[in-house]
Amino acid sequence: MRPLTLALILGLAVIAPAQSIAAPQKAQATGPVAQLTDEIKAHSEALTNLEYLSDVIGPRLTGSQNLLKAQAWAMGKLKGYGAVNVREEAYEFGPSWSRGTFSARLLTHAGIPLQGAAFGWGATTPGPVRGEVLLPAPQSLEELKALPALAKGKFLLMAGRFPAPKDVDPKLWAEAAAGVQQDLFKNLAGMLIQSNKKDGRLLAVGGPDADHPLHKLPAAFLSTESYMLLKRLAARREKVEIELNIQGTQSAKPVQAHNVIAELRGTEKPDEIIVLGAHLDSWDLGTGTTDNGTGVTAVMEAFRALAAQKVKPKRTIRVVLFSGEEQGLYGSKAYVKAHAAELARHQAVLVEDSGTAPIKGWNLQGREDARALMAKATADANDLGVRELSLETALDSDHAPFLPEGVPAFFARKDFDEYIKVTHHSQVDTFDHAKPEELLQNAQALAATAWGLANLDERLPQVKPLTEPKGTASHGH
Ligand SMILES: [Zn+2]
Repeated sequence: MRPLTLALILGLAVIAPAQSIAAPQKAQATGPVAQLTDEIKAHSEALTNLEYLSDVIGPRLTGSQNLLKAQAWAMGKLKGYGAVNVREEAYEFGPSWSRGTFSARLLTHAGIPLQGAAFGWGATTPGPVRGEVLLPAPQSLEELKALPALAKGKFLLMAGRFPAPKDVDPKLWAEAAAGVQQDLFKNLAGMLIQSNKKDGRLLAVGGPDADHPLHKLPAAFLSTESYMLLKRLAARREKVEIELNIQGTQSAKPVQAHNVIAELRGTEKPDEIIVLGAHLDSWDLGTGTTDNGTGVTAVMEAFRALAAQKVKPKRTIRVVLFSGEEQGLYGSKAYVKAHAAELARHQAVLVEDSGTAPIKGWNLQGREDARALMAKATADANDLGVRELSLETALDSDHAPFLPEGVPAFFARKDFDEYIKVTHHSQVDTFDHAKPEELLQNAQALAATAWGLANLDERLPQVKPLTEPKGTASHGH
């Protein structure tokens, strides 16, 4: 049985009692949550903001001028909505990177252009480079050890690890494979990796982490169609030759990046904090509409409604627009470090970063102990479709760095298959894929949940995990 389904059944089993008690008896949400929901329905600025962020500001790589523009824009908007303590918090990021020209062409056989994109912050080629495609399938330890010599000046069609032949001790094979890797990477002209999408859609990945193996040589993500063409041709055991040109620029010195922070101060417990979080940075093949323009503008809209309706939350609601998320959660790690002294006063951290679908609940990151209070805090949001509280743990967005500190940090739960298959990190992550109704629901769900948590009498327990949290790579950053 798939882990998710198990979590769902588990979740439902636990929720049902709370749900069945609440739902049938409870009338339509009234009071502040109805006010917030109606305010967003009637006056939402989320879609206008998303169009501006996507089409006018555009892609927001961490370290880029566009991201600085987006930060200034977001701070101006949040101030206009009535936010206080609006600021940028700087942290050391590493070298910035800007994508240069990229071209790939098949020189033999069909002789067609290939679709691809460079690995972010990756190595460049000395101009256009020609070489054979290598699709190794070593059948013995001798063939494996001979690979580095065979690979000289070739482009490796990356297809995961080299499977150990049946008659070879897997442990010996793994050791030998690790042993040849360094020489292999030294001799190769480059590496070609398959995008996780179909229909020509590409995948942007990468970061300034110099230890990443893909930093060692020029690497490109090819569209599935281009990759599979090379794979089929190479499997014919004929010479397959391509020309690859990868250009990109890194700053000579490390740069600073920033998290944007804005607050609506609590009335009774202003020192206790609910974070509404989403990353403002994006990849650069598209305009970062669904990753994570939708999260950013839904968070900003929830904040706008909370301020506009003067619902006066008891605890402080703090918007945090992280940066550096796409390269490895740099901004949220920096926030946890910079705010170490006040983490104990964080009631909860809510992160929205999973595409355009409706928010159907929250992933509690294994925190069964927080379920009852989260069910209480989201009771008024049930009618918006916010009903599922799953124990699912996903460690690839900005809630993750809070988990080892014991801070209740939850991830917006959505169906994201279409998001992963279509827009996530691809060149079609554009405003054309925005979903107006879902964006409204996202903002309503965030406002209602933040309100519920801000006004709970109780504090959610802060519990440091005994072991390092392990999670599913739900939406694979
Ligand atoms: Zn994202």
